[in-house]
Amino acid sequence: MDVQTLLSKGDIQCHCGRTHHCDTKTLLVADNVYCRIPNLLEGINHVMVISDGNTRPLCGEKVIETLTDAGITVDEAYFDQTEVLVPDEKAIAYAERFVKEKTRVIIGVGSGVINDLSKYIAFEHSIPSMIVATAPSMDGFASAGAVMFLKGLKVTCQRKAPRWIVADKAVLANAPIDMIRSGIGDIMGKYSALSDWKLAYLLSEEPMCDMIYEMVETELNACAENIDAIMRRNPSAIGRLMESLAIVGIALAYQGSSRPASGSEHLISHYFELQGVKNHEPYFPHGIDVGYASIVSEILRKRLADENPDDFQFDFNKTHWTEEIKRCFGDTADEIETLQAKNKTFEIDRSTYIRNHWKEIKAILDQTPGVEFICGKLKDADYDIHTFVDTYGMNKIRDAVCYATDIKTRYTLLQLLRDTGYLEKYAKELKL
Ligand SMILES: [Zn+2]
Ligand SMILES: [Zn+2]
Repeated sequence: MDVQTLLSKGDIQCHCGRTHHCDTKTLLVADNVYCRIPNLLEGINHVMVISDGNTRPLCGEKVIETLTDAGITVDEAYFDQTEVLVPDEKAIAYAERFVKEKTRVIIGVGSGVINDLSKYIAFEHSIPSMIVATAPSMDGFASAGAVMFLKGLKVTCQRKAPRWIVADKAVLANAPIDMIRSGIGDIMGKYSALSDWKLAYLLSEEPMCDMIYEMVETELNACAENIDAIMRRNPSAIGRLMESLAIVGIALAYQGSSRPASGSEHLISHYFELQGVKNHEPYFPHGIDVGYASIVSEILRKRLADENPDDFQFDFNKTHWTEEIKRCFGDTADEIETLQAKNKTFEIDRSTYIRNHWKEIKAILDQTPGVEFICGKLKDADYDIHTFVDTYGMNKIRDAVCYATDIKTRYTLLQLLRDTGYLEKYAKELKL
């Protein structure tokens, strides 16, 4: 079933026993998408458009012109800057100035930050938002969360996903190459994420759904087969990548969490981002970090698959862990300890269960296509593992392998490695 048919069904009573919901009602990636926007907004005659110095000339002007020509009143919150917009109190206050009593929709023209800001503002006024995407850079388009910087902190506010996600193929095809590579990396990380989801279904209490699983897997395969054409900026291939990113986001909305798209590879990437923000150190755009991290997790995965289950031993040492957490996370170490204590992460010895279910677990580890395959695909998207190693250094990469799992309470390959006694050993011995 194509995604538009799925979306038009509304809430889905699924055979997995759950009801799946998504706020997004339309996903439209097409040529000359502008002329179709007034039709999508049927009956709406007053909107507010958010754009910045990059996205307004790229396609914001055309959006506004088309809406005005169709007799729709347009107010505009234009951020006159080309550097990355920070979605903080100042940005919210500025955009709020242009929301009128008659405004019925907030239209964001851009990608991550502008989408977040549009979702945030729209929710405050109980009206829907639309995103006119300008770059296929990550899978958060259909996410209900708005990532904001409030009181100086990065926080995810629960809002509503955009009701309409639209993108013009020609605009996407002209996006900066690193944003396109980032979109590819975010999707290629799904080999790892899907395998980890199955692990979590077996070893923790994560709900599984075949329909959602297949949605993500289909988009992953579509991207893997298309990398050459995407990198050549073929508009159809880039349009398809944009659809894939949006569909994965819709799958996450159906699941009610980021689980189907985010496993050990995302934890590792979060570690780099967290340390980068905290210590003012460089880090890659999200999807590029995910791409590199998915090579790391694939190396660990395949190594574990070859071990003898008789050797598995849960040998977690709390004193050593506490010291290491302090070393890696500094003043946020206490928060991490509290989080893991609350989750009772270290009180469960799963090693016997893992031994007894090894055949099943090994099959899950074996389902991913292997290090060589993933490296090859990422190489086609100009990923070079040496750039990754040069940027972070092996010490930081080893720390990420060892302690990224502690940032959250999500069961992934990294926790499986700790449960079997291999996490530190593999981190120490990691070669890239
Ligand atoms: Zn389901
Ligand atoms: Zn991601």
